[in-house]
Amino acid sequence: TQAYIDAIEPAGDLNAYVLATPEKALEMAKASDARIAKGEGGRLEGIPLGIKDMFATEGVRTTACSRIIRNFVPRYESTVTSKLWSEGAVLLGKLNQDEFAMGSSTETSAFGCAVNPWRRKGSEQPLVPGGSSGGSAAAVAAHICAGAAGTDTGGSIRQPAAFTGTVGIKPTYGRCSRWGIVAYASSLDQAGPIARSVNDAALLLRSMAGHDPKDSTSADLPVPDYQAAVGGSIKGKRIGIPKEYRVEGMSPEIAALWDKGADMLRDAGAEIVEISLPHTKYALPSYYIVALAEASSNLARYDGVRYGERVDGRDIIEMYEKTRAAGFGAEVRRRIMIGTYVLSAGYYDAYYLKAQKVRTLIKRDFETAFADGIDAVLAPTTPSAAFGIGEKSGADPVEMYLQDVFTVTLNMAGLPGISVPAGRSSEGLPLGLQLIGHPFGEAGLFALAQVIE
Ligand code: GLN
Repeated sequence: TQAYIDAIEPAGDLNAYVLATPEKALEMAKASDARIAKGEGGRLEGIPLGIKDMFATEGVRTTACSRIIRNFVPRYESTVTSKLWSEGAVLLGKLNQDEFAMGSSTETSAFGCAVNPWRRKGSEQPLVPGGSSGGSAAAVAAHICAGAAGTDTGGSIRQPAAFTGTVGIKPTYGRCSRWGIVAYASSLDQAGPIARSVNDAALLLRSMAGHDPKDSTSADLPVPDYQAAVGGSIKGKRIGIPKEYRVEGMSPEIAALWDKGADMLRDAGAEIVEISLPHTKYALPSYYIVALAEASSNLARYDGVRYGERVDGRDIIEMYEKTRAAGFGAEVRRRIMIGTYVLSAGYYDAYYLKAQKVRTLIKRDFETAFADGIDAVLAPTTPSAAFGIGEKSGADPVEMYLQDVFTVTLNMAGLPGISVPAGRSSEGLPLGLQLIGHPFGEAGLFALAQVIE
């Protein structure tokens, strides 16, 4: 723990932590030492972790990287983090992210962008670490935490993992409790780990997962020993390559990476099969309707009364307006407006209801493939390697949304997905491949990912 604390300050240029908690970390580490000395202890005894600022941490400021709750100190702990602490893990601090997890680069954070510890060959241009869990991925890649807890609504664990050469898994919807996590889009949000290896991710997920009576959508299923699956045989597994993911304009290096991943799985005994997921092209537009609709509803609670900051006005309406105008960043305001629009009378059927129907079709695509004997689907995690800060955050927000083209489908379908480092771009930057599994089939994903790692 002391070594990690000492490493955080010199890595300040990465802006990965929005709050470091060294005193608390040392206190937790001492308690852990005492348990170990007594021969007690859990699976994560003494392991120092960073936590995305979406997770409520008792007595430790939790902001979702938004101005509107910049001074919020919860009096409760999220279920996922309390599970980590009860296994003996140590809190190093809270990690940077896009505001309310809305973004793919960490550039929408009220605390400024986090920076990717990787550099392009021969370039001084700093890179984004991806998002929204960009601080988590940057911190893991830079060795300023041993692992991190992130959240993934449409790719926020997997895309930053791919951009930083780390491993990230979004478990099946319902595998981890959402209780105590700041809500973005409740039917899509899931917690999961970002780690330096498949084995570490398996270890962390085992402690994060499990049923929680406080989240009615959490699944009452036993949590397997995921580490036992790492290194297991994948012989005879049928891996689907969805032809619709060969999107127009896919870069040759991403296509080559994908082929290489398939070869590695084939060499380890898997069978590679081309499959069709016909509704793939509707995943991105329908995601950006469903997610924004839910976000507009979830963010209604930041009204200057129940939560966070307040800017006074002449009457209550003006107070709401001033509070929300001052508290939310531009991207969050845009999403609240779009979400409100697609839910409004007259547009609800055309947008929100239509998107929900498309969501069912996307889910059915996967169900059909799985019923045909497909064990997992292999696809790229991202359309490119990490891009430069400012490169995609210009006037057209769709530039950024297009980053999520490969990751949002499985959130819409509720399925688990893991991103694993699989190679380097021509500029020497990490690239990731993604494996998508059956509902609650995370163990199988760890076995497959380990072959590619
Ligand atoms: N980039 C996606 C979005 O902005 C996903 C974010 C996330 O998974 N939290 O909605």
